[in-house]
Amino acid sequence: MVGHQYDLGREASVVPPVLVFNVTGRSPFVLACDHASNRFPDRFGDLGLTPHQRLMHIAWDPGALAVALRLSDLLDAPLVASTVSRLVVDCNRRPDAPDLCPAISERTDIPGNHGIGPNERAERIGAYHTPFHDLLGEVIETRKAGGRAPILVTVHSFTPVYKDVPRPWPIGLIHPRDEGFTAALRDALTADGPELDVGWNQPYSALNGVTYTLEHHGDGRGIESTMIEIRHDEILETDGITGWAERLARCLHAAHGSRGGAASNFLERYGQFTGGFDG
Ligand SMILES: [Zn+2]
Repeated sequence: MVGHQYDLGREASVVPPVLVFNVTGRSPFVLACDHASNRFPDRFGDLGLTPHQRLMHIAWDPGALAVALRLSDLLDAPLVASTVSRLVVDCNRRPDAPDLCPAISERTDIPGNHGIGPNERAERIGAYHTPFHDLLGEVIETRKAGGRAPILVTVHSFTPVYKDVPRPWPIGLIHPRDEGFTAALRDALTADGPELDVGWNQPYSALNGVTYTLEHHGDGRGIESTMIEIRHDEILETDGITGWAERLARCLHAAHGSRGGAASNFLERYGQFTGGFDG
């Protein structure tokens, strides 16, 4: 689906820059996971980082892909996921963003990203950023052409402490220009778990320049969208991944229903919006 040309002479293995799962799913939702992977393609070596640093949140969103995959199954929704670390090129930044290929992330120096010239930057965009957005756009536009304008849901995770400041919310929601669907999702999460501390535009908002995917594919294509951020200590184990995916599936459907959306086969498969997944 994507016309990227692989340079077989430079790569020891070929991994596509983007993966799509369940592309024919019948859900009203389309899922995207911009920061799914901490993979550095061979040509980048280790970017000067230790193995430990490459496992940290600076390189990816730990747990996000696992939740997104489970959610894709529960919702019967397509999922588009990047296969490249955000330190190589950040798919949730504008192509002209200064932190597209960050030289420092939080407080970690990224030696391999110092002094990147326009050619290297353009090569990374063309090899990884463009294919991710082309494929996500194709999935959305195919649904629109079929008379089903989807709701875009991007799945991320965030570090519990950033620059020494603790982040108390287990989940945060970030809305695009139109906050309507995100507000409905917040209400559904609160109804599902009144004790849940749902961050609103936390741990950051669109004003921080970190919502390119929502702007480009949500607002830009005239569809509803929302960005979900789960604190990653919540989703490092199987129980947490499954629990959050099930909660989000219930609440996304409740939010969709509260705005007049028709029930999909989710109801046939799971019986009700709230109250467990015994089926
Ligand atoms: Zn992220």
